[in-house]
Amino acid sequence: MIMSSKEFFRNLPAKECSECGKVVRDEMHECYSNECHECESKIK
Ligand SMILES: [Zn+2]
Repeated sequence: MIMSSKEFFRNLPAKECSECGKVVRDEMHECYSNECHECESKIK
């Protein structure tokens, strides 16, 4: 059974990008520190 993203986020504390303040999706976050994918690619 696939959890909807709403369900998924309800169970997680929101992480915010330290650069732009956008909420960072946890599933995309594992490899990154505190930046969202966009900022992460800008930094590098
Ligand atoms: Zn960002």
